[in-house]
Amino acid sequence: MPAPDLRVLAVASEVFPLIKTGGLADAAGALPLALAREGIGVRTMLPGYPAVLRALSATTVVRTLPALFGGAARVLAAEAHGLDLLVLDAPHLFDRPGGPYQAPAGRDWPDNAQRFAALGRAAAEIAVAEGFDAVHAHDWQAGLAPAYLRFASRRVPSLFTIHNLAFQGQYPASVFPSLGLPQAAMATEGLEYYGGVGFLKAGLWFADALNTVSAAYAEEILTPEGGMGLDGLLRGRAGVLHGILNGIDTESWDPARDIALASRFDAADPAPRAANAAALRARMGLAATPEAPLFAFIGRLAWQKGADLLLEALPALLEGGAQLFILGSGDGALEAACSAAAGAHPGRVAAYIGFDEGLARLAYGGAEGVILPSRFEPCGLAQLAALRYGAPPIVARTGGLGDTVIDAAPMSLAAGVATGLQFAPGSAASLSAALRRALRLHREPGTWARLRANGMRTDVSWGPSAQRYAAVLRGIAGLG
Ligand code: ADP
Repeated sequence: MPAPDLRVLAVASEVFPLIKTGGLADAAGALPLALAREGIGVRTMLPGYPAVLRALSATTVVRTLPALFGGAARVLAAEAHGLDLLVLDAPHLFDRPGGPYQAPAGRDWPDNAQRFAALGRAAAEIAVAEGFDAVHAHDWQAGLAPAYLRFASRRVPSLFTIHNLAFQGQYPASVFPSLGLPQAAMATEGLEYYGGVGFLKAGLWFADALNTVSAAYAEEILTPEGGMGLDGLLRGRAGVLHGILNGIDTESWDPARDIALASRFDAADPAPRAANAAALRARMGLAATPEAPLFAFIGRLAWQKGADLLLEALPALLEGGAQLFILGSGDGALEAACSAAAGAHPGRVAAYIGFDEGLARLAYGGAEGVILPSRFEPCGLAQLAALRYGAPPIVARTGGLGDTVIDAAPMSLAAGVATGLQFAPGSAASLSAALRRALRLHREPGTWARLRANGMRTDVSWGPSAQRYAAVLRGIAGLG
């Protein structure tokens, strides 16, 4: 490992495996390890949620912040899972039950603006005081870090990464005075957003460089259709906007060593996957019919992810003799619809409503294919896991899904590079057609095995992307 020549402070509200609600956590947890191999030393600041503090054994106080948004706070240093962490221990803001953003009843905490302004403010203070070379802020929760840095006593450049433009952290203008930023910041050329305060907007405006998690999404967010109100601003900053794909941690996601699997396997011998399918069928009450191809949907049950399109397209799967396993949680109506589909087709459709990492791994390692009918998808990690675990992904051609899966068109099949199926437009009719095409290809001798083998050979690691991040970070720090 080279000695780091650049010291970066990453700021994120979720870091796997300490706290996770989505792909942001995976990226924030894996990128520092990959950047270490590029000679970049990353310390990661995250909020001291109860789950985070419970997971840390030894901590040392590196800074006290006597009055941070209405209470005393401390920044604690700790090492965990190979990560060099700085935990913002602010009990008045983060010592609460529930998820990172919501009370147990599922409502956003009313002081989320202050909670995540505190994260940005503490990060900026630490970056300046400890002499970091650059700050890497992730998503709206860290969006104010670049704003505080812009008005700080010492210049520390920042990179802001958009993991999902749909989550914008918008608050009324009345929160502005509590932020402690100069009045000049409350401007169109600042963090003012449709009359209120925009945390994501702040990151997009004040950071020195921007990136998002695939090249296609970096293009899509420049358009009115994909820009979610921010495309104008983003077009103005297109010169500093990069599209760098997420990877997955291929040490943790390794089908040859994954203890969550009933049976481990590799690209040379994927046959043991059948035992994972059998275990999944048994656990989920699906009929023990190995000849029926078993497909899986794994993801948040949200409009974005298109589970409703999949339920509409279900006849295409069932008429083709396939089985479906759904793993997800989120929107109550979608949860109910998935459970109802399982109830209507016992033995052929199963749904597990909840978040279960082990079950997800078993499904990636046992399913014949993973279906991602997302309406938009900045990068997507499920298809990367599916490629690595030999379950060819069937994906909507949008964002990172289109960038990471090579469609099984005749030419790409002949060239031996196809890894899954793509469909467009994002509709139930076009998904149904893709599912029928998948079942046809699945019946052809050898075709599915080639898709599987090509996918398992695909490099889904962080390696190439870490090199690109390193170049961007060195660039903003003036070392590029
Ligand atoms: P997003 O961040 O938009 O939710 P991503 O595809 O970037 O979507 O990341 C989702 C990650 O969370 C993937 O690693 C996926 O396997 C995992 N995941 C999603 N839902 C579940 C669930 N219900 N149980 C276990 N893992 C899940």
